[in-house]
Amino acid sequence: MEWCVSMPKVELHAHLNGSIRDSTLLELARGLGEKGVIVFSDVEHVILKNDRSLREVFKLFDLIHILTTDHTTVTRITKEVIEDFASENVVYLELRTTPKKNDSIGMTKRSYLEAVMEGLRAVSTVDVAFPAHNVDAGSPTKSPPVNDMCNGPTRKKIYVRLLLSIDRRESTAAAMETVKLALEMKDLGVVGIDLSGNPVVGEWNTFLPALQFAREHGLYITLHCGEVPNPKEIQAMLDFIPRRIGHACYFEEDDWKKLKSNNIPVEICLTSNIVTASVSSLDVHHFANLYSGKHPLVLCTDDAGVFSTNLSSEYNLAASAFGLGKRELFLLAKNAIEFIFASDGVKQDLRRTFDLASNKMD
Ligand code: 5GP
Repeated sequence: MEWCVSMPKVELHAHLNGSIRDSTLLELARGLGEKGVIVFSDVEHVILKNDRSLREVFKLFDLIHILTTDHTTVTRITKEVIEDFASENVVYLELRTTPKKNDSIGMTKRSYLEAVMEGLRAVSTVDVAFPAHNVDAGSPTKSPPVNDMCNGPTRKKIYVRLLLSIDRRESTAAAMETVKLALEMKDLGVVGIDLSGNPVVGEWNTFLPALQFAREHGLYITLHCGEVPNPKEIQAMLDFIPRRIGHACYFEEDDWKKLKSNNIPVEICLTSNIVTASVSSLDVHHFANLYSGKHPLVLCTDDAGVFSTNLSSEYNLAASAFGLGKRELFLLAKNAIEFIFASDGVKQDLRRTFDLASNKMD
């Protein structure tokens, strides 16, 4: 396990509000309990529970969003989540989050995202590399900043990029608002759009216009695909040819064919799939088939807080479940660079980081 921690890693599927420390959630819940907003004893065991069905996961997210959705807390959790990934040697993180609107506290999708960006800047334990920002009273300038800036002297460094999530509960107009926000923030570290949220809610056609618009305007798209058996939607999603997909648990033969012929990389979240019983056991997990067929894939956490995992544990799990040695794990982690949504310059820098580390990794 220690070896997996020390290896540099790339995380491409991590939801901000799913990656919060239990200690932070408990502290926030206690605070809201004291204010009489919630009853702490009712939620404590929900936060600390280990096994959760997919349905329970989405109920938990409703609770988490009650605990976290104010600007200060969004900034705090962003900072902590980045620090946690960096502490286990994640060198590139694509963090995804759903911009939220909450009129009662004056939160707009834009102000939510700005609170996230504030969290990036607040990290002090490591250097965070993200595109230089030039926000003037809430309106970003059009001039594209070229270089990643670090918010401190050179120490351990983590690249961070953002994906904005569309929640499947949202309307076409709300999805479009998220995409337009992503486009405005494209020079500030937002590289793509994710479609997520409860997979039994919403219709693919509701989100398609916003996703098409995003792609036409240069944003990369990743989709939660095949988390539940929904063959028509899986086919429609694959026909869209997204840059990556997450999960792929309920694929049938035709779906695998389409995925493979289009060479679409898969974000694999082993613990998440097992805990939610989307896959019955690791013995039958599709990782093995994709890996042996050299299909592009990347190990990810999904929701490190909700599923009590971290990226090092996911690599460790892959090693024990699928018999991968150190060299295979290292190459798996390094190959993930090829599927990131950041620029070629970032890719080159990451390749150098892995090459330097490879000498020390025996
Ligand atoms: P947030 O976007 O609020 O930062 O992160 C939590 C949100 O991510 C959830 O409300 C949900 O929309 C999405 N999410 C997190 N984990 C999963 C997952 O395993 N599957 C799907 N479909 N959505 C998820």
